[in-house]
Amino acid sequence: MEKRLIITVDGPAGSGKSTVSRILAERISYIYLDTGLLYRAVAYKAMQRGISIEDDEALRKLCDGIDIPFETDNGNMKVLIDGEDVSGRVRTEEIGMLASSVSAVSAVRDALLLPQRSAGRYGGIVAEGRDMGTVVFPGADIKFFLDADADERAKRRYAQLMENGINVDLGEIKKGLEARDYQDTQREIAPLKPAGDSVIINTTGIDVEGVIEKMTIIVEKHTRLAGN
Ligand code: C5P
Repeated sequence: MEKRLIITVDGPAGSGKSTVSRILAERISYIYLDTGLLYRAVAYKAMQRGISIEDDEALRKLCDGIDIPFETDNGNMKVLIDGEDVSGRVRTEEIGMLASSVSAVSAVRDALLLPQRSAGRYGGIVAEGRDMGTVVFPGADIKFFLDADADERAKRRYAQLMENGINVDLGEIKKGLEARDYQDTQREIAPLKPAGDSVIINTTGIDVEGVIEKMTIIVEKHTRLAGN
């Protein structure tokens, strides 16, 4: 039987990792795990409860025994809060920035570690985020790190948000992405960085299919090797 791999995809906001990870997972019939969605759900829950992102103690209490059910539906990941699907509502730039702040708190990261690892316990997963290859799945079979120029990342994010009917300003999007990347790369715990053994792909000027093609070649090679 073919070995079901753990594939990690890390990178900054707007690097294209969500789109390619989702499509890659669908094509090879793997689970798609969007871990940013989990951090966004925690941020949303904190916001709903009026908890300040500065208040580590309140965030710790919120995460104590927190349960954030998630499921994959038709290739898309959904996250539930108090039984309600909030996936659409948390995919805003505002929640992205809040998620970046709460994700720097150790209690938040600790609470999400086990559910993320459980999702990958049987392999057959494409796990996407910031610390998939470095912290959550350090022994992953294949680790990708996607990057792109800030201008291109901002344009992609802008197009994505406009497509979803969210009206935004390109300049503001670029500023927001840069602030978020700075926060994500500079934090003490699980900062955004490529794992030493990752394959780095600069996606500037490459379309979605082009990136998926590069990834698929590597996945097929590993699947063949693992089968021998
Ligand atoms: O990927 P997405 O933009 O949805 O992530 C939102 C935020 O969640 C990121 O900016 C990052 O701070 C945080 N995050 C993280 N670790 C992950 C995934 C996301 O810290 N594995």
